[in-house]
Amino acid sequence: MEELISFLGYAVFFYLIMRFSCGAHMVHGSHHRGKSKTTIDPVCGMEVSREKGFSKMFHGKEYRFCSRNCLLKFDDSPEKFLNSDGEAS
Ligand SMILES: [Zn+2]
Repeated sequence: MEELISFLGYAVFFYLIMRFSCGAHMVHGSHHRGKSKTTIDPVCGMEVSREKGFSKMFHGKEYRFCSRNCLLKFDDSPEKFLNSDGEAS
């Protein structure tokens, strides 16, 4: 019985380690996604530096636009520029 308990203890321990490392990896991955510090303007497809352009929060996600014109187009009908995953299409 004692062996079973220690086995379960190890199982839970490894489960937590896996879960933790997986979560950390996901955070790590999304943080460095895209290699450079640019995002894609969903309207015209241009790369926009995080320090430049116009940003807008939409459904909890930040989108960046190269110009005010693109931002206004997006604002007008966001669903036109995004697929069902909320990614730039
Ligand atoms: Zn643009």
